[in-house]
Amino acid sequence: MKLIDGKAVAAEVELETKARIDALQSRGITPGLAVLLIGEDPASQAYVRNKDRTCAALGMYSRKIELPASTTQEEVMKLVAELNADSAIHGILVQSPPPKHIDEHAVTLAIDPRKDVDGFHPVNVAKLAMEDPTAFVPCTPLGCQRLLIAAGIETSGAEVVVVGRSLIVGKPMALLLMAKGPGGDATVTIAHSRTKDLAAVTRRADIVIAAIGRPKALGAEHIKEGAVVIDVGINRVADPSTKTGYRLVGDVDFEAVAPKCSAITPVPGGVGPMTIAMLMSNTVTACERLTA
Ligand code: NDP
Repeated sequence: MKLIDGKAVAAEVELETKARIDALQSRGITPGLAVLLIGEDPASQAYVRNKDRTCAALGMYSRKIELPASTTQEEVMKLVAELNADSAIHGILVQSPPPKHIDEHAVTLAIDPRKDVDGFHPVNVAKLAMEDPTAFVPCTPLGCQRLLIAAGIETSGAEVVVVGRSLIVGKPMALLLMAKGPGGDATVTIAHSRTKDLAAVTRRADIVIAAIGRPKALGAEHIKEGAVVIDVGINRVADPSTKTGYRLVGDVDFEAVAPKCSAITPVPGGVGPMTIAMLMSNTVTACERLTA
């Protein structure tokens, strides 16, 4: 069984990104990312801090905008319009989930698709479906694809089952894997909460991508011998033995599944680091295009 080291692959991606940042800086340009956080959700605050830190480590400009939960839709829309027009900002990200009174879809639609480094704007979703290379692809599935390529796992002709159909992970993951070219050309099935006999479906797979949002939802009975498992899940479960009182587990029961796999990602240290690395890479791509 091979453990796919997301930290190591993320470091490789960041080295490539750093070289691109240096090339931009030699032209007097610094890539800039604006991260908008509305409200005080602790998990979101931690993600935003992490993004800010990685930007700084790579020599990018990062603008962290923290707004109170009482911020109105109009205020958010105005801010997005200002960021769209700001030449120091090349990527705009609104940390999800915003408070309930904010219409997240309307905010996504307001972001300039050229600065939509999360890849959630309909223009980018359509471009991904059309296999247009100028699409911004959501960072988590892009990171999963990169992990498969880096680990030398052949996707061409492989049976892949993606469990989860969200716009953030499952759907774009399936589109990437069925696209033509490296890291694609797979035969893709998407499963979700209405799938009948999930274990029978996932057991067909050479590669299983778990993006369910339920701790240890996939066990040994879901995985065929020798399969590759990419675990996207990040779930907090109570653990009084830790300092924080919780620990992170994936959507896959690692202890039960790992002995059957040819390769598997751990949680933490698998997909998580890749998401941030791909966000930085997407932001630099946006900067390169906007300043070409
Ligand atoms: P969503 O809740 O948006 O989607 C979950 C999907 O799983 C849905 O399509 C749902 O089906 C399906 N599902 C739920 N229960 C079952 C079940 N029992 N059997 C089969 N399918 C099921 O979550 P996300 O896609 O946003 O995230 C998925 C996981 O990935 C979460 O743990 C999240 O924390 C993590 N994540 C990790 C990231 C990272 O950086 N590593 C980034 C983003 C997410 P239905 O559509 O029918 O409801």
